[in-house]
Amino acid sequence: MRNARMTRGILERLKNGVVQGAEGYVFELERRGYIKAGPYVPEVVLDFPEAVKELHREFLRAGSEVMVALTYYAHREKLKDVGRENDLELMNRQAVRLANEVAREGDALVAGNVCNTWAYNPENAKESSSIVRAMYEEQLAWAVEEGIDFVISETNDYLGEALIALEVIKQLKLPAMVTLASVQHDQTRDGYDYVEACKILADHGADIVGLNCDRGPETILPIIEKIRAAVSCYVAAQPVPYKTDGRYPTFESLRTSSGEQAFPLLLEPFLCSRFEMAVFARKAQALGVNYIGICCGGAPHYVRAMAEALGRTVTASKYSPAMELHPVLGEHVEEKHKEFLADWKS
Ligand SMILES: [Zn+2]
Repeated sequence: MRNARMTRGILERLKNGVVQGAEGYVFELERRGYIKAGPYVPEVVLDFPEAVKELHREFLRAGSEVMVALTYYAHREKLKDVGRENDLELMNRQAVRLANEVAREGDALVAGNVCNTWAYNPENAKESSSIVRAMYEEQLAWAVEEGIDFVISETNDYLGEALIALEVIKQLKLPAMVTLASVQHDQTRDGYDYVEACKILADHGADIVGLNCDRGPETILPIIEKIRAAVSCYVAAQPVPYKTDGRYPTFESLRTSSGEQAFPLLLEPFLCSRFEMAVFARKAQALGVNYIGICCGGAPHYVRAMAEALGRTVTASKYSPAMELHPVLGEHVEEKHKEFLADWKS
């Protein structure tokens, strides 16, 4: 077990104010050349552990208070796909160790992580549930042995699958953050309205509910606002930093100018600016969102801009922009900065 640290737990931190998180490890490490797009299995945890630690460290310096163990898609089904089922335990344990090593460099918490498995099938709920439960139980048993503060169950396509994760987390007596994917228009793949599904999760004892992934700031916030109004527990919002809108509400639905699906390898033209993510953080805070983060597409410059928008000075703030010192651009860019600053600091 991990040694006790001075850090308060996730629930104590949330009681005192917004907790900032950061995810998108798989997407970012794919961009850096350490994860294969397609299977998206975090083999990097074993093959290049230093690359994982470096990204944890960059998110930590940028203001993330939670190091999320990179066990997304490190479950039995996915490892089978890439022929590394024998590495399952080692990959899970090592991911939690790496998160802990970097968390100790700052004052961060460590979250265990489970996700959508693609093994759950509501048509065959009984049998598929026991397969999913066994995967979550083995992953989280290893995580608990290596030392975690709470668990994030994320990108849940099915309420049924999310409820299995919640039960397993509660059995371990750990705080549970359970967030849904929102690929579809307004309901989970098993037919629950996102707001209703969050309410059910809250009623079953989830400490934090909300949405992660799929939607950018513009299209995630209207649903988050309804979730905030429907539950009394803590609410999380971790959008993707892409310009989704009413026509293309998710990053999976975005189309390039020639009509191709942009997800997942043609998404760059749709990236939000750091200022847009900063404005998102301010809006989420104003709505009463308690856990504010970022998902696929996330990178340290966004995390820092969001932290500063929340009024924080973080380690990486030492190198935040000072355009007045630029010999040519200074005044011009300064005006643009002022507009954004007026928006988030008012
Ligand atoms: Zn994501």
